[in-house]
Amino acid sequence: MILMEGKPVAASIKNELKAAISKRSKENKKTPHLAAILVGNNGASETYVNSKVKNCLEVGIISSLFKYENNITESELLQQIKMLNENDDIDGILVQLPLPDHISEKKVITTISPAKDVDGFNPVSVGNMVLGFPTFISATPYGILLLLKYYNISLKSKHVVIIGRSNIVGTPLSILLSRNNEFGNATVTLTHSHTADLKEICRSADVIIAAIGKPQFIKADMIKTGAIVIDVGINRIKDDNKKNGYALVGDVDFESVSNKSSYISPVPGGVGLMTIAALLKNTFNACIYLHP
Ligand code: NDP
Repeated sequence: MILMEGKPVAASIKNELKAAISKRSKENKKTPHLAAILVGNNGASETYVNSKVKNCLEVGIISSLFKYENNITESELLQQIKMLNENDDIDGILVQLPLPDHISEKKVITTISPAKDVDGFNPVSVGNMVLGFPTFISATPYGILLLLKYYNISLKSKHVVIIGRSNIVGTPLSILLSRNNEFGNATVTLTHSHTADLKEICRSADVIIAAIGKPQFIKADMIKTGAIVIDVGINRIKDDNKKNGYALVGDVDFESVSNKSSYISPVPGGVGLMTIAALLKNTFNACIYLHP
């Protein structure tokens, strides 16, 4: 079994970006600048945003974090996004999800300018992705493609079963992997909570991508021997042995599944690191597009 660790992949992407940003600086070209918006006090969201900011700093991307209380109104937030759209110094904008119930995620993601939509959630970005046009691919699917590429795994002609059809992971991935391109040409089955015979479908898969949000859901008896397993899930489970009282686990039961798979990505240390690396790449690309 080969462990598909995200660390070496993310490190190599970050080194490339660092060099490219430093080269731009020597040529007096603009330094990429990411604006990250965080609303409320969701612990996991704060951790994710802080990690994105820290990673920007490591490669030389400027980041500005805009933090708002839970009681910011929808129109105030949309106004802030519009100002960032107009601000020439900002290349990429991300709004950390989820948002409080009184703010429409749909309005927020459609307000971000497609040219600065480094999370790739705007319908324009998604539409371009569906048609295979150049665009920002949302960070987690993009990170998974980069992970597969690094480990030299081609999905051509393979049967890929994706569990979970969210707009940010499962659905875009199902499209990207079925298209006729260097990452694609797979035959994809996209499954969800209404899928019948999930176990049998999973057992027919050459590649399983789990994006469910249920700790250790995929067990060894759901995969065929030699399958490639990519675990997107990040779940907190109670663990009294940890200082903070919880451990992070994926959607795959790593202990049993790793004995049966040919490749498997760990949690933590797999797709999560790739998501951040992909976001950095998108931010750099936004900058060179807006300020060649
Ligand atoms: P969502 O909660 O938006 O979607 C979960 C999906 O799983 C839904 O499509 C749901 O089906 C499906 N599902 C739920 N239960 C079952 C079941 N019993 N059988 C089959 N399908 C089921 O999830 P996200 O895509 O946002 O996140 C999934 C996981 O990935 C989470 O753990 C999240 O934390 C993690 N994540 C990790 C990232 C990373 O960087 N590594 C980035 C983003 C997410 P239905 O549509 O029918 O409800």
